[in-house]
Amino acid sequence: MKITDIRCATIGDNPIVRILTDAGISGYGPVEFTKPYIKPHVMHLREALIGEDPTNVERVMLKIRQRGAFKPYGAGVSAVEIALWDIAGRAAGVPVYKLLGGKVRDRVRVYNGGVRERMTRFEPEDFAASVRAMKAAPHGFTIVKQGIGFHSGMKHEAGFHIGETRPSPFHGALDRGLMTERAFKHVVECVAAMKAELGDGIGLALDCGPGMMVPDAIRLARALEPYNIMWLEDMITGDYIPYVNADVYREVTQASSTPIHTGEQIYLRQNFKELIEKKAVNIVGPDPCDVGGLAELKWIAEYADLHGILMAPHGIADGALGIAALVQVSAALPDNYIAFELPAIRPAWWIDILEGFPNPLVKDGFIEVWDRPGLGVDFNVGKASAYLAEADKGFFD
Ligand SMILES: [Mg+2]
Repeated sequence: MKITDIRCATIGDNPIVRILTDAGISGYGPVEFTKPYIKPHVMHLREALIGEDPTNVERVMLKIRQRGAFKPYGAGVSAVEIALWDIAGRAAGVPVYKLLGGKVRDRVRVYNGGVRERMTRFEPEDFAASVRAMKAAPHGFTIVKQGIGFHSGMKHEAGFHIGETRPSPFHGALDRGLMTERAFKHVVECVAAMKAELGDGIGLALDCGPGMMVPDAIRLARALEPYNIMWLEDMITGDYIPYVNADVYREVTQASSTPIHTGEQIYLRQNFKELIEKKAVNIVGPDPCDVGGLAELKWIAEYADLHGILMAPHGIADGALGIAALVQVSAALPDNYIAFELPAIRPAWWIDILEGFPNPLVKDGFIEVWDRPGLGVDFNVGKASAYLAEADKGFFD
């Protein structure tokens, strides 16, 4: 089998990569909905892909893996990798999880990322109301995540931190600085209000930055010890920060028993090496759509497990096709797997143009792993074509 073409179209909010073959089999790979500008980056890989056998996934990846970088520039390579696995699975007649080593669980736990109302006020009662709504969602989430401090609108309020605020069109703009005592106490009060709402039946993870300074990070991790938080995410680096700072994370992680988490923006296993070997965090959270794909995430999970580090993949912006990709790889991860972040489906009609999902998709906080070939979901071309932009009309041809 040979690759004959590669295409990229933004459907709804998510760019989607399609790889075509001379066997009539196509594979699809998702890109985060935050990256409408990624198409040229995907298409520049075309020449390296044409004529290659897509079922030799690693051999193909060796040709293109150097053409990616930390988020957002690992997205093109990652989407191609996922599309290659989709083809390989379809060609072999097996789900992708079988090609990644086989499933070790029949259902995968998810945590809530995207089922939420946008917060406009940041008082303890607002945070309590936010997690109350998550708790009431029909998904039955067992873990929910909330942004606080530098990962919330609270950081724009006067007196939040000692430093400059830099207005920027980019998500993840880097405001950094020591928090004021009042802001620090406020964050702890907001966490207490959320835990009072959730009780001990639903885990609370907190996305905290980046932007925190080491003394605040240590103080916060210690102050929250009584609340048994699932993890504190991205306090030092993360989001769109193109470096890791593993030694700084190590200092924070060693200072308390609260689990410390990072990794959503990191590209390739090599860039997790120091975090894992130095035990700089307790949990890593690569995103398959940024780290380099599904096998890349599996390698990182295995290496992390050997070092006593847990795995909770990121996925908020990966869209409906991203859910399929995350289910396939998460089914095959070792026991250090906690849960993946359930991607938001934007717009809601996305779930109608892909066929093969269980209904309901999430039950009791889990997704049942399905057994169809490849990623196991198929575009309803008739329905999906209606949403293509004029310039992308030939995407499914
Ligand atoms: Mg995050």
